[in-house]
Amino acid sequence: MGLIPVNSILPDESLPDSPASIDFSTGLPKLPQALAFISQSIRQHTKAQSIGIVSLFVPPTPPLYRITAEAARQLRAELTERLVKALREQDRLYSLSNWEWLIVLPSLVSAAPLTLAMMKVRGVLGDPFETLDGDSLELETYCGGSLWPDDGDDAFYLVQSARIARLHAARSGVGTLSYQRPMETIEAGQARFQKDLQRALAGSEDGSMGIYLQPLVNLTGSACVGAEALLRWWRGEGNYVPPHHIIAALEKLGLRHNFTRWLLNQAMQAISALTKAGIEIPLSVNLSASDLLDAELPDLVTQILAMWDVPPHRLSLEITETMMVEETPQVTEVLRRLHQLGLALAIDDFGTGYAGMSYLQRLPVEEVKIDQRFVRQAVGTKRDREIIASIIQLSHRLNLTVVAEGVENQETADMLWSLGCDLAQGYLYAPAMPLDEFIAWCRRRGDISPLS
Ligand code: C2E
Ligand code: CA
Ligand code: CA
Repeated sequence: MGLIPVNSILPDESLPDSPASIDFSTGLPKLPQALAFISQSIRQHTKAQSIGIVSLFVPPTPPLYRITAEAARQLRAELTERLVKALREQDRLYSLSNWEWLIVLPSLVSAAPLTLAMMKVRGVLGDPFETLDGDSLELETYCGGSLWPDDGDDAFYLVQSARIARLHAARSGVGTLSYQRPMETIEAGQARFQKDLQRALAGSEDGSMGIYLQPLVNLTGSACVGAEALLRWWRGEGNYVPPHHIIAALEKLGLRHNFTRWLLNQAMQAISALTKAGIEIPLSVNLSASDLLDAELPDLVTQILAMWDVPPHRLSLEITETMMVEETPQVTEVLRRLHQLGLALAIDDFGTGYAGMSYLQRLPVEEVKIDQRFVRQAVGTKRDREIIASIIQLSHRLNLTVVAEGVENQETADMLWSLGCDLAQGYLYAPAMPLDEFIAWCRRRGDISPLS
């Protein structure tokens, strides 16, 4: 296809052309000419008119890696030709690298035409390309745009801003985005957060992340019969990061698997320490929704139990009711295998989702934890008391143990006891505590076997 002589893409007059300043396969000028043109336009423009800058990128895909060098050159030339046809006469097109183009749109009246131009660019590249090898190839494309004077006064800064916007367009999957300053602050913040999280999970000795234990007590005699492991992280200068925030970030960063392994190891360490202290209670661990979609979870649990020589009945897993609404054959299979291993499964936050009692009948669970929102209001609200009463009745009919969460005062504990609830957890007894404090708490109460 050769060079494309189009007047709208001629290099800027102020820079002499040399072979190094022209892209061979597209015939387009490169970054230095783009910067010169943008700078010149800025000097000549009044701020009533804007200059738009668009970074266009075609990410590599398996078929793109497979085509011959000649076919790739032809493809880039054809793509350039399509762009040239789509642009206005005053627009300029540049080649920044093999698969990156820069478009400069002078004399825009507002930000809206920039968005429209990006959509048009992606539109014309949406149809498949015929390659020299005779294949039909569909290309992915991403566009990011920046605007003078809104996004900066310097040509290079504006080009980089358009590239930053394009990176966000690719990551978010939306295809086109205009630059916004928070894209960078979020970016820098996220990178630091990710690094800190990875460091914490790698088990570096700073000990900033760990689990705390909250007791589960028997409502009839207040004996501690179990504990729940709750995630705690003080990041950097003592900044507490709530568990939900950590879990959401882990999913986004693809670290969920590392975390589950880390969490189970922490739980094993705690169970071993409790055994040594003569406290032979089960410890429950919260699973994340995607853990249940992981067919390897039962194998991981088996390995870790064997490694720490912990009997399965000392570990219990909590899954929230909302996770169960997504019940699929994979989820049911994972639960069935976990149950077969001899672990107890508990449904957490019961009453908030839509799963309802029918799920309880089908799933291999042993325990139901009534959500603390009901529990905390139950003393003053008849309706919440009735909900609790019916959950307890139905659960007992299915031979399930019922735990009430968020028990903050004696009045609530008495009410739960009168309704026949089995276990309670909440600030009335103790908050989640570091392991050594938990052991000391059990010792003070006498919840300890005579062996210790
Ligand atoms: P959850 O499993 O329902 O945990 C109970 C939450 O209630 C904990 O908050 C606990 O500190 C708090 N709590 C306990 N007693 C009381 C009380 O009497 N009154 C009040 N107001 N709150 C009480 P936390 O530790 O902030 O955890 C919040 C949620 O984060 C947990 O809810 C759980 O869904 C999730 N989470 C915590 N640790 C982990 C973990 O290791 N893995 C996963 N996947 N999720 C976790
Ligand atoms: Ca829980
Ligand atoms: Ca809960």
